Amino acid sequence: MNPTPGPTASGARLLDGRAASQELLDALRREVEVGVAAGRPRPGLATVLVGEDPASQVYVRNKRRACEKVGIRTFHLDLPADVGQEGLLRHVRDLDEHPEVHGILVQLPLPKDGGYDENEVLAAISPEKDADGFHPVNQGRLMLGQPGPRPCTPRGVMHLLDRTGEELTGRHAVVVGRSNIVGKPVALMLLERHMTVTVCHSRTRDLAAEVGRADVLVAAVGVPELVKGAWIRPGAVVVDVGINRRPEGGLVGDVEFDAAAERASWITPVPGGVGPMTIAMLLRNTVEAAWGPLAMP
Ligand code: NDP
Repeated sequence: MNPTPGPTASGARLLDGRAASQELLDALRREVEVGVAAGRPRPGLATVLVGEDPASQVYVRNKRRACEKVGIRTFHLDLPADVGQEGLLRHVRDLDEHPEVHGILVQLPLPKDGGYDENEVLAAISPEKDADGFHPVNQGRLMLGQPGPRPCTPRGVMHLLDRTGEELTGRHAVVVGRSNIVGKPVALMLLERHMTVTVCHSRTRDLAAEVGRADVLVAAVGVPELVKGAWIRPGAVVVDVGINRRPEGGLVGDVEFDAAAERASWITPVPGGVGPMTIAMLLRNTVEAAWGPLAMP
């Protein structure tokens, strides 16, 4: 399935995450409607928010709204910042035992001064209810090539790459960033698709040279416009995961968009690229936690 190409000013085709996400959400809504009408349990997602971080509140609200539009039931726990590790674990375990909760999402990061151990909290969710795909068992399944929920942002990246219709097998992917939630899992998913993968990070000696070898570039760094347009190999597909706030307002990615668009064949905008895909994949993971893998693309 190829997207309607929206050419950028300089010719690279725009890999439009808003359109892709909307299509996915529409397809999920239809799946849920048909499945529930056929007697399947309505998928349910529980969100857990600890403390009052405004950005986290917005993220959780957006996720719950998206669920409601698709027909996923939501359960929500607003916990005080001082609920404590044991208190939080008790709540997570209760949700885990709830038969109508198929997916659980604990919004990260947890409050810095609460003495929380995020890893222990994530591990308290059953791997089967791990809507974010962050559970160590699911990260292990990804490494072993076994089925299981995949982390949402990397899954969104793969979906966008598939929309280009470009052949991935045998080609060279360069991932900039090696976090557990984006860089490492996306590298494994590209490897699963038979790409030759290079992973770069803050100690990489010559980032420009590494980026210049990429047929597919995935930037997940968190440094505004770190990747210069002039580094991009002509014809490369550029997926920019970065979301950085400009001091003067507005968002910017990890890649110099205008200059990169002069060389790339496809490029994601920021905002409107990978960001919208992440929520769509969270919802897909929730429906799949309830019913098993969906056949849709
Ligand atoms: P992390 O801070 O966890 O990881 C950043 C990675 O970038 C690290 O591996 C780090 O290397 C590497 N890095 C930092 N500076 C450089 C540099 N100068 N050169 C090369 N590599 C460098 O970030 P995340 O993975 O969580 O997020 C990355 C970006 O993606 C952020 O902008 C974030 O906001 C965005 N994001 C977007 C999402 C979406 O839905 N679109 C979802 C999640 C994140 P090292 O390991 O050596 O320190």
